[in-house]
Formats: sequence, C-alpha cells, structure tokens
Amino acid sequence: MTPVKITQDVIEEIKSRLDIVDVASERISLKKTGSNYKGVCPFHSEKTPSFIVNPDKQIFHCFGCHVGGDVISFVEKIENITFYEAIIKLAELAGVTLPTVETSYEEKKLQDKKQQLLNINIIARDHYISRLRTPGNKAHKYATLRGISEEIMSTFSIGYAPEEWDSLSTMLTKKGLPLGNAVSLGLIKETNGKYYDTFRDRLMFPILNHRGDVLAFGGRILEPKEDAPKYINSRESELYKKGEVLYGLYQTNKYIRDMGYAVVVEGYMDFISLYQAGIKNAVATLGTAFTDRQVGLIKRYTDRIVLFYDSDDAGINAAKRSFLPLLESGLKVDALFLEDQMDPDDAVQKLGKEELENRLKKAKPLIGKIISDKFSEQHRTDDLAKITKEILGYLALIPDNVSRTFWLKELSIRSGLSTKELSGLLVNYARASKQGNNTTVTTKNTSYSKVKPLYKNLIKTLFMIPQLSARVFDEGWDEYIPEDIRGFISKVKALVEQRETLTISDWLYVSNEAGFDWFESFLTKEFIDKKENDGMNLEREFSGCMVRFKMLQLERKRMDNLRKIKEGENSENALREYKAIVQEINRLKPMLGVLE
Ligand SMILES: [Zn+2]
Repeated sequence: MTPVKITQDVIEEIKSRLDIVDVASERISLKKTGSNYKGVCPFHSEKTPSFIVNPDKQIFHCFGCHVGGDVISFVEKIENITFYEAIIKLAELAGVTLPTVETSYEEKKLQDKKQQLLNINIIARDHYISRLRTPGNKAHKYATLRGISEEIMSTFSIGYAPEEWDSLSTMLTKKGLPLGNAVSLGLIKETNGKYYDTFRDRLMFPILNHRGDVLAFGGRILEPKEDAPKYINSRESELYKKGEVLYGLYQTNKYIRDMGYAVVVEGYMDFISLYQAGIKNAVATLGTAFTDRQVGLIKRYTDRIVLFYDSDDAGINAAKRSFLPLLESGLKVDALFLEDQMDPDDAVQKLGKEELENRLKKAKPLIGKIISDKFSEQHRTDDLAKITKEILGYLALIPDNVSRTFWLKELSIRSGLSTKELSGLLVNYARASKQGNNTTVTTKNTSYSKVKPLYKNLIKTLFMIPQLSARVFDEGWDEYIPEDIRGFISKVKALVEQRETLTISDWLYVSNEAGFDWFESFLTKEFIDKKENDGMNLEREFSGCMVRFKMLQLERKRMDNLRKIKEGENSENALREYKAIVQEINRLKPMLGVLE
C-alpha cells in the first residue's frame, strides 16, 4: 500500500462527498424521527434504539453507551480500524484520490518486506488449517476431546503443524518462496544449511493483532513429552513483539464493549476455554505482564478489566506485576482468584458458565488483595513503614476520588496511621508522580463518565462561545488552569483567531490533539441536544468556572501551608501566607454565588 498524505483539506473533501446516514445505513437500519435518524446501537447491546444520527451536522451519538463522532470515527469504530485506515476506505467510497507521500527506496523496501512476512504467515496459517482438516487427523480429535468446537476452530483459525521435520518448508519451497523470511519469522530453523520446521506435532494458534493481521503463532503440544515444552510461541520478529498484542481481542472486542469489562487471562488455552463456555469478553496476554501497549489496546473498548490468572503464587504474582501500568492508565482493575488454586480451565469445568460469570462480574479490586497480602506478610515494625509507603504509591495513582478515599481508610486501619496523616503523605506522592505541576489528576485518557464536571462546564461554554477562550489568557486565568485543559483552550483560541465559527471537524481535531478520549462522545451529544444559546448565562458560567479553577489551586496551597505550619517548617512565613490565602478565598467565595 502506497502511503498517503492526509490533510485537513482532504478530510473535509471526503466528508463533503459522503452522507453519514448512507454510510451508517449500510451497517444498521435507521429510521427517520424528526430531524434525526434513529437505530439500534451497533456498539452495545440494546433493544430500544438509542443510536442517533444527525444528518445536518453529519454526526452520530449513542445515548446508551455514549459513543459518538463523525463519519470517520463511525467507520473507525465499527470496522475496528485506525483513523488512517478509515480515511483510505472512505476516500475510495467518496471517489477522492489521496495525495501520495514520496517514499524513499529504503522505506519502500521495508514496507514490501513487512508485506512479504505477513504473506508467509498467512500461507503458514492456511497450511496448518488444511492439515487439521485432513480426515482422521489426531489433532482434530484431540481438540474435539478438549471441547473445542468446529465453530471455535474456525473463528480462531486453529490448525495443526504435522510431525514431519519439513512439512512447512517443503510446502513453501514448492510455492517458490525463499525460506529466509520463514526463518526470520521463527517458523523454520536453519542449521548447517539444513532447514526444519520449528512447530511439529502441535495444535497451532495464530496470534493476530487488533486488525486481524497474523503476526505470529503459538503451538501447544498434544501429548506431554519429556523433552518438549508444552507451549512454544513464534520468536520475536519484525512483525511480532511480545507484549504488543492481546490474543483474541480482534474477535472479542464487541463482546467486551457489550459486557462493559474484559476478562484477562494469561494463555490462549485459558482464553479458548472461557470462550467455549460462552464467556466471550476475554483476551489473553500470552504470558507477559501487562504492557502499556496492551493497556492502550484494551482501553479502546472498556474501562474495567478483571484479571483472571491461575490462583497459585505464580498467577497472583503475575497479576500484581501487571498492576502498575494498569492503574496508571485509569482503568478499573479487578481480579478474581479462586479457591483450591483453580486455573481458568478448571473453573469452567467445576463452576460452569453461570457461576463463573457471576464471580467475574463481582470480582474485587486488585488493590484490596495487594493490601491484605502485604500486611499479612509483614513481620517487623520497619516493614510497616515500607509497606505503607508502597501502597500509598499505588493509591496516588487511583484517579477516582471515592475509591482512593475508600482504600485510604483501609490502609489507615492496617497501618495504624490516621486517614488525615495518610492523606497528607498522599499529596506528596501525587506531586512526585505527576509531571511537576500541581494538577493532581489529569483528564488525559479518562473515560467520559469520569471527566470532572468543572471541565465539562467550561468546555460546554467554550463550545457555545469559542471566543471566550481568549479571555482565559487575556484576563490571566490561565495560570490557575491545569495543563491539559489549558492546552486545549489555547488550541481553540488559535482556531478562533483564524475563523469565526468552528466546525465539528475543528472540535474533533482539537480534542484529538489534547488527548481527550471522551470528547467525541461529549461533543456529539451536545450537538444533537443543542439548547438555545443564552449568551448571558454562558458568560456567567464561564466566569464561574474560572473562579473555581482559581479556588481549587488556592485550596491546594492552603492545605500545603497548613501542613508546613503543623510541621513547624518555616512557620512564620507559612502562617502569613496562609492568612493571605484564606483572605483571597473569602474574597472569591461570593463570586461563586453568581453561578447557581
Ligand atoms: Zn450504544
């Protein structure tokens, strides 16, 4: 595929030639109601339609699951492809020729190489599938015996690598394909000029990325052998890096969205067991601790995960190792550990779908398990300080105030320190772990429901009167406003200076730049629900937001000074400053009154 250059002009051109109603109607049935179209949402399960398409604004919004966007995001979401891929697809549909980017010879070579490697994997996958399908195949019998249905075999392209040493290499040679690529993918090994297949007598599981490309394979042995590992995976290659994919996500993302959470297991056999039992909202990490990349993948579909690892020490430790990147991402991280060290496969057999699903739904926060395990391991008093510090470090990362406070109480009971003392310590942690500015919680990558009302109110007013963005800077409010939203406002200001009214594309562009994942949803809802523009109230609301941001910062300063005064550090100055802050807060308070 020749790389193309995507400019704002091209995007506008594509959008002007397409009608979102037509594009959406290809996938779902829409009915006209008033000035909108209504249908059953393709992104979550529902019986009563709450999916709205607005032809005037060319946007959609679901009032059930809060997904929203323009025609590009619709295609991105429904096909589960990237923005870039959606543009290419829609350009074709709209008959727009995309300007190509000049690629260097080196770049071109690299792309061709990647395509060749992908082709080899596809050929290998098909080879393994056809071998599994030969009549009387023992792997097929084995899979059936393990309860793997035909449907699952085909959904996950499960195959069989035969016992011969050269089954794959002979087939590739016959097709006239050089073996070098298969060697670099780890499908074939070479010693002293002789080639032999890496995977032999194994049940084969293609490992796909979220777009469905075959990146690698996992092979499971049929009968235990002394000198052969139970599982082997393709080695890392130009296509496949450990920790960059989630097994099953390509097939299960819709179930994850429907159920509102993802069950995360370690291996593909555990995954298959769950899927077979009807628990389809699952993925497998393939044996690594959760990486940032994997967190990013899962966050597109849900904000809650349930880690369901083996319930032995190894599994519990693996879950704990995954905790930090997950917590930092703002995901709600729950975990299920079962009695008698049951692994997921045992659990399906012993508990059955209903009971297991019930327990997964009710899985408890991993932080709780960590706190109770840490304190039960504690033997000496100096451990106590260490453990308390470690857990405070975790709590500082929990974005949600209510649950942070809850666990702070729990920690207080265990450690013997008061919640007040712990809160004081926590402030320091939060400060140390954030980028040095004094915004405590950023909204970056936060899902819609968790966005602070203050942010929403401010953005709502800006959205109605974008010109207000200039006042933020002219009147000097910017120093009180957290960095992420300040960046957002300054981009709005820059756009307003260029043109009077902002289009929905402009807004989507600005929110993308600011990393506000929740914005699409917010925006489309606002557009569809748009109330009458009451200039007077909006300006008042805007001023109120500014005052609130300032008060929040003063309040943080006040707490800081209070701590200094208590600790006796530089007391006199702190006391003077404290008084000044309180005075300023009191002066501002009446200004908040104008809001309500
Ligand atoms: Zn929906």
